[in-house]
Amino acid sequence: MTALALAEVGTRLALVDTPALVVVQPKLDANLQRMRTALQQFPHITLRPHLKAHKSSYFANAQAAAGVSAWCCQKLQEAEGILPKVPGMRDLLITNEIVGKRKVERLMSLVKEHHARTKITVLVDDVDNCRALNAAMANASLDDAKLHVLAEVDVGQERCGVAPGSEDLVALARVVTEECPHLHWSGIQCYQGKLQHVRNYEEKRQLVNGVAAKADASRTVLEENGFPCPIISGGGTGTFVLEAQAGVHNECQPGSYVFMDVDYSKNLDQSGQLTTDFEHSLFVHTTIMSKPTATRLVVDAGMKAVSLDSGPPIVVALHDDGSFTSCAEEVAWDARGRGKSVVGDTLQLIPGHCDPTVNLYDQYVVIADGVVTALPPIEGRGPGV
Ligand code: PLP
Ligand code: MN
Repeated sequence: MTALALAEVGTRLALVDTPALVVVQPKLDANLQRMRTALQQFPHITLRPHLKAHKSSYFANAQAAAGVSAWCCQKLQEAEGILPKVPGMRDLLITNEIVGKRKVERLMSLVKEHHARTKITVLVDDVDNCRALNAAMANASLDDAKLHVLAEVDVGQERCGVAPGSEDLVALARVVTEECPHLHWSGIQCYQGKLQHVRNYEEKRQLVNGVAAKADASRTVLEENGFPCPIISGGGTGTFVLEAQAGVHNECQPGSYVFMDVDYSKNLDQSGQLTTDFEHSLFVHTTIMSKPTATRLVVDAGMKAVSLDSGPPIVVALHDDGSFTSCAEEVAWDARGRGKSVVGDTLQLIPGHCDPTVNLYDQYVVIADGVVTALPPIEGRGPGV
């Protein structure tokens, strides 16, 4: 016996089973247009949205309809699930190092299947990894197809990457260019994730200028050594305008702008107000399953339904406002919910952090005018293999 679906196309939101991951299509479309408008004043910047936010071919196709042709993703799993279902995806950067025999084999399958349509790029920060990728490409016998690579430069994130302007960076360019005929040297990745949620705009601008200076120094050292640096990629929802203004990067990689979340909505704009650059389009739809006292609501969306790594969700109340005071595996309590809500009402929660919340679900419930319009799968979800 198959379980009853969450909803069907045409179901009214109030009748969708809970917890469900709801996307309000007109709000998402407005965000896609806002991004387009924001970048109009920066013709030197290519928009390369990050798939790690929505992890789905459905919204990648929506981005394609809004003019996007290049994307990035974090994991092979995302690439494998999404690329085959997005005809307009002509350019895909995996913003990670691909390491390990089986991973490299999977990357080769991806290149084999899609290289005629899609330019595939990965990050490198280790010369032996470059040699391994080159050997795998040689074994894959793909004639003149190339795997494109960007060197990851650590511009302050303190995660992967070689030091800005370092000998290690030049060594990567040299090994790729001189020893790896099946790889194509494309430039550098300079992403500083820690700056995305710096609340104060002026402080953030100065920190991003520091990132741009490191990217510029890296490009200069490469060029002085005879290596080109056509791509300088990086920047997320919280910083892409500042990188664009700094004038060194020529690509940006925002992901969360499609959905927004509580954490992003705490960023301030230039005048010190809460930024309204993008609006919330992603909600966890949940049911009040108990109201044991006048001040306690219990809903059916706990930590299995909404990620807590960037703080609790907030409630978009039908009648109440308030926030989670505690959260368990399958239920959460909103002790401030004193209003008119009754058992059986549904509430919408704005997740604290959109990407890991999306990762908890198999499918979206897309709505417009309060009615379900699609139930697309989240192909790139999972542990990130
Ligand atoms: N680029 C890289 C390499 C990232 O890791 C991330 C997010 O972590 C992004 C871009 C997009 O960031 P956001 O979703 O905050 O816009
Ligand atoms: Mn995120």
